[in-house]
Amino acid sequence: MRSDVIVLGAGMVGVSAALALQSRGRNVVLIDRRPAAEETSYGNAGLIQREGVVPYAFPRAWKTILKSALNQTTQSHLHWSALPWIAPALYQYWRHGTPERVEATSHAAAPLVEHSLTEHEALTQAAGATALVRRTGYLKVFRDEALLAAELALDQGSRRRWGITAEAKTEAELRAIEPHLSGPFAGGVLMSQPWSVASPGALGKAYAELFVKRGGTFLTADATMLQSAADSWTIPRVEGPVSAPHVVIALGPWSDEVLRCLGIKLPFFVKRGYHMHYRQLGNAIPSRPIVDGDNGYLLSPMNGVIRLTTGAEFARHKALPTPVQLGKVEPLARALFPLGDRAETAPWLGARPCLPDMLPMVGAVPGYSGLWIDSGHHHLGFTLGPVTGRLLAELMTGEAPFTDPRPYRVDRF
Ligand SMILES: Cc1cc2nc3c(=O)[nH]c(=O)nc-3n(C[C@H](O)[C@H](O)[C@H](O)COP(=O)(O)OP(=O)(O)OC[C@H]3O[C@@H](n4cnc5c(N)ncnc54)[C@H](O)[C@@H]3O)c2cc1C
Repeated sequence: MRSDVIVLGAGMVGVSAALALQSRGRNVVLIDRRPAAEETSYGNAGLIQREGVVPYAFPRAWKTILKSALNQTTQSHLHWSALPWIAPALYQYWRHGTPERVEATSHAAAPLVEHSLTEHEALTQAAGATALVRRTGYLKVFRDEALLAAELALDQGSRRRWGITAEAKTEAELRAIEPHLSGPFAGGVLMSQPWSVASPGALGKAYAELFVKRGGTFLTADATMLQSAADSWTIPRVEGPVSAPHVVIALGPWSDEVLRCLGIKLPFFVKRGYHMHYRQLGNAIPSRPIVDGDNGYLLSPMNGVIRLTTGAEFARHKALPTPVQLGKVEPLARALFPLGDRAETAPWLGARPCLPDMLPMVGAVPGYSGLWIDSGHHHLGFTLGPVTGRLLAELMTGEAPFTDPRPYRVDRF
């Protein structure tokens, strides 16, 4: 089978890229080893983060770094045994954490984040999936006065510049929004612009169904089998090979695996994260996601259960699960909001695909004709999939890109 483009990976990023290329007249074959959106794009917190301009930077305060390194926080967890593999990328991540570089990253992220809602809007409409989307924002609550003050300072400062609205809330106002929250609270913030979804996996699947409905081909195959020969990229399959002059690597946290097979080394690393579903207790279900600002986890209502997602675990991608953070935050979450029994025996484990500057990588791989990357979307891949898909498609088809693509280029490291 021959096509114009092969897109490898059918998570939110790959499916969105396939749709954007298809809408520009390209004949696209989308390939995954699993059905669409069953990995990272399934297990995330389901936020479409219109406010997510300022990146999660490597901490600069030595006290915070030391606490994190000693695994004394709930926000992060480090596998010391992974350091020989992950230290070079972490060092680069640390180097990108200076105030100047965080500012530069925010600048570069802003045009993508700004367009995230409109790009999702168009796709949810076309896919008939608007019922999955809640436009009610999310709440961030704090028991700690100093942390609340820091959050409010961020709102007054950098966020305002990026057009982000955050409404400060008193404890009484928090309770009026979510009557089941258990205080005491210093206060909180309502992030009103972001959307959230009742099932991230279902939204990814709805987009993939739209791609197929519009005439796209979705096949099962192993992306590590990718071969290049004479201006053509091929994926062998028992049913016969699939070839195209262009191939897009949109394999999320597995992108590095396939790129390394081609001899391409980029500073990809992962921030792993867990989720657990809890049964509803009585009539207590939050009306929107709630972030515990003191402890760095999130609770979100999802299809009759409450999903708790954890912060970042720095580990090798394929290391065995160590849900230490989940163990630490579960009692805190139960003290924050009524939660019933665990609905599953084992937590879900996923991995945020990251690059040291916390910007995605979107563009052509220099020196490899027809090889493109759309990956490294870190904490924001569910948010940014459609917008980076659009940018990639504009670059691939020679259309004027809607924003300067240079901050996301492949050879920036
Ligand atoms: C706990 C947690 C919470 C998060 N919360 C949010 C959030 O609220 N909002 C947000 O915007 N982002 C969030 N993220 C980040 C977001 O989920 C990711 O950035 C995003 O899902 C990445 O999408 P992707 O399509 O690049 O990767 P994936 O969804 O992982 O898709 C990659 C695809 O590649 C396929 N694949 C891999 N290897 C092969 C192979 N060899 N052959 C064929 N196919 C292969 C996989 O099967 C998979 O379908 C969160 C992440 C985590 C872990």
